[in-house]
Amino acid sequence: MKGTDARAPLRTLERLIEEQDLQGKRVLVRVDFNVPLEQGEDGLQVVDDTRIRAALPTIDQLQAAGATLVLVSHLGRPKGAPEDRYRMAPVARRLGELLGQEVRYLKTDGPASPEQQRFVESAASGSITLLENSRFDARETKNDPEMARTLASYADFYVNDAFGAAHRAHATTEAVAHLLPAAAGGLMSRELEALRRLTHDPDRPFVVVLGGAKVSDKLGVIESLIEQADAIIIGGAMAYTFELAKGGRVGDSLVEPDLVETAARILETARERGVKLLLPADSLCAQRLESDAQTQVFPSGDIPDGWSGFDVGPRATEEFSELLEGARTVFWNGPLGVFETPPFHTSTTAIATLVAGLDAYTVVGGGDSIAALAATGLQDSIDHVSTGGGASLEFVEGVELPGVAALEAD
Ligand code: ADP
Ligand code: MG
Repeated sequence: MKGTDARAPLRTLERLIEEQDLQGKRVLVRVDFNVPLEQGEDGLQVVDDTRIRAALPTIDQLQAAGATLVLVSHLGRPKGAPEDRYRMAPVARRLGELLGQEVRYLKTDGPASPEQQRFVESAASGSITLLENSRFDARETKNDPEMARTLASYADFYVNDAFGAAHRAHATTEAVAHLLPAAAGGLMSRELEALRRLTHDPDRPFVVVLGGAKVSDKLGVIESLIEQADAIIIGGAMAYTFELAKGGRVGDSLVEPDLVETAARILETARERGVKLLLPADSLCAQRLESDAQTQVFPSGDIPDGWSGFDVGPRATEEFSELLEGARTVFWNGPLGVFETPPFHTSTTAIATLVAGLDAYTVVGGGDSIAALAATGLQDSIDHVSTGGGASLEFVEGVELPGVAALEAD
């Protein structure tokens, strides 16, 4: 398998601190501060600071080593130009509260703009500066060397702690890593270590649970997991594309007709390999997606027109639970139903509770999956909750993550 195992070791933060005197030195740190914001009484506020907290150990370690920090992250999806609703100001405020220290921030046109450069130059020793949103600069997503050079001019060293952005080859994750002595931050290292336990000789049975809305997002991972897992449980809207491939009727459930053939091929491969691919026997359906809608349970391959499957049904939840009870390793990505709209959260909550109680190595990744898990309050009972959705999937899939490859010791 390419990408995950048998690779050069990463240059770690520990080694950087051991080998280099960071006292008075500047370190550019790529963090993943792509957090949800909400309009509050005095402007935009950070709603969930999980990702900011996750970067604190790396920030603390670098500060303890005497470094002056320049942090950079993307936030949301601005289209290569400044947009007030995606400014880093609320993040700087929240980070300052968490650290109990001022976090320098200046509203600029982007992290490589002339005003930003002057602002970084004026940073005092030991200070922390948070740069403006990296995606305000159209060159970020193009992995532009010129933008990377400007960012590299801010510092003596580069640390990448943004696992959630590691599957992108962007100026702040890839190009810049080649211009300064670079290392993986603590969070990045922890993520990779936790996920490696899935791809490298996992305890068996290894059961994978995949849900969510789109098959297209997850096809690659299903195909490579057929090689690795003992069983794959498929829930969420994805299940209906597979039902179509089996010749079932799925009413008005969300499907991707273009992918029916691929789904059929995946079913066939799983059969050939003797990998159990478990689809939901039944579905909790409604005629409209609302909490007060009348619900009815139908077999997932026999849903009448006008009805949509919005959650895995009670029998399927039981079958999934039985299979999971024997698991020694579990990887879960994607909610099993429309968990945002009760009662279609039912199976997701039941399976989350079960997985949290398992005597197994358990990993949950994906933005919505984490939100669904957080709603149960059981995050602490999961061995590893990955801050990266797409990145964790691509890692497990065996795709090389450019942000990680750039940190490999040569
Ligand atoms: P993650 O962010 O954890 O990777 P995804 O983004 O792939 O997960 O999918 C999450 C979305 O899938 C949720 O918004 C959820 O409402 C939706 N979803 C799950 N099951 C269904 C279903 N049966 N029909 C429509 N949408 C669904
Ligand atoms: Mg999502």
